Amino acid sequence: MTGQVRAVRPEDREGVYVHAFKCRRCGLEFQLYSWRRDRHRVGGVFCPECGEQTPMLHWRTCVNESREVGRQEEDGEIYKLTTRFPGFILMDDSAVG
Ligand SMILES: [Zn+2]
Repeated sequence: MTGQVRAVRPEDREGVYVHAFKCRRCGLEFQLYSWRRDRHRVGGVFCPECGEQTPMLHWRTCVNESREVGRQEEDGEIYKLTTRFPGFILMDDSAVG
């Protein structure tokens, strides 16, 4: 089927990539982390504030080139990127357990 996005599996990992977007409508900047180099692109990403696909700027960097989890320094793993800011607390809308 065209238009369907297949789920990324651990064996699909190409590394750890940070995709940064800036919405050209509202100015919001946000980042998505992915194991795939080309997983997220303008036109396929929704601005969290506008709630729709908008014109955006898109930057990308690779912070870990390993195709396997934990083979390089752990600072480059996705779970470390997500919690890297001081003061993060787990919110009560989280799906846990
Ligand atoms: Zn926006």
